[in-house]
Amino acid sequence: MKRRAFISKAGIGLAAGAVAAPAIAQQSPTINWRLTSSFPKSLDTIFGAADMISKRVSDITEGKFQIRVFAAGEIVPAFSAVDAVQNGTVECCHTAPYYFIGKDPAFAFGTAVPFGLNGRMQNAWRYYGGGNEAMAALYKDYGMVSFPAGNTGAQMGGWFRKEIKSVADLKGLKFRVGGFAGQVLAKLGVVPQALPGGEIYQALERGTLDAAEWVGPYDDEKLGFNKVAKYYYYPGWWEGGPELSLFVNDKKWAELPKHYQAALEAACAEANVHMQAKYDALNPGALRKLVGGGTQLRAFPPAVIEACQKAAAELYTETSAKSAHFKRIYEGWAKFRADQYLWWQVAENTYDNIMVRQMRGAGGGGAPKAAPAKKG
Ligand code: CA
Repeated sequence: MKRRAFISKAGIGLAAGAVAAPAIAQQSPTINWRLTSSFPKSLDTIFGAADMISKRVSDITEGKFQIRVFAAGEIVPAFSAVDAVQNGTVECCHTAPYYFIGKDPAFAFGTAVPFGLNGRMQNAWRYYGGGNEAMAALYKDYGMVSFPAGNTGAQMGGWFRKEIKSVADLKGLKFRVGGFAGQVLAKLGVVPQALPGGEIYQALERGTLDAAEWVGPYDDEKLGFNKVAKYYYYPGWWEGGPELSLFVNDKKWAELPKHYQAALEAACAEANVHMQAKYDALNPGALRKLVGGGTQLRAFPPAVIEACQKAAAELYTETSAKSAHFKRIYEGWAKFRADQYLWWQVAENTYDNIMVRQMRGAGGGGAPKAAPAKKG
């Protein structure tokens, strides 16, 4: 009896030992994913964020979890990224959710809506203002989970061949513009065009477009828009803090070991910070270069901004009646936006304005010059 008990115990011990090694190996399996980006490789900022995510995930998992990044058009076109994730062609994509407002207008909140949040507020909303939960309920219908994975900060209003002096100048204007803004501008006579970043230059050069916006000085200079349009307008009131997302097929996400999920989520959060930081660091130099090369900076006239604000408010009411997701997200989001600007006008905005005045006084303001002169 005793001997038998011993053998059987040893047997159990042995069996436990025998499964231990493969179990450890199983905890860190080799996994190869494909990521389709909606952006061209030439843009180290916005395309670079996906590269950063891929590299970080590989480093954290000692090379076991590989995500190969493909530029727009290599596997699927820029605007098919979500379909590719949904149908499992790729496991994930890096994109601007507002490219998919044709599926549901509520996708706009995942990037930016006109007169919406700035970049800081967008993060506050996503991480701590109920935004992640609000968007998750939409994305669930498409079999995806999402993570904030980049922000450009407030964008420029884009490149125009002719000056925009009044609302009337918008009539008939063929304008490449991102996301929901096209529907706002259409109310004022603009003919909005949706085009991926990599296809804008040619269309502007050929005259298929009268005007085009992309992001800001660094990217725009790289894409060469200054060569075909003279007037560079600001701000891009439709993109005060547009966010990029990593969308992951939810079944593929569920199959990942927990620590791979953590690695991917952390890499996205890191990319979210770095993309903004990179744009902020690179934009001033690019703007100087553009202005030095003859680009004319223009602010949108107040009357144009006011007309667009009115059109946007109408559009939100109309869209809320059409999309349950839009209505649901808009209600919470609008309250959050009101609170954010209540706070912003006290410290943040006041501080920034003090500093802008100080820098102008020091000779660094107005149209960007070669270098801010020293005071006195
Ligand atoms: Ca844009």
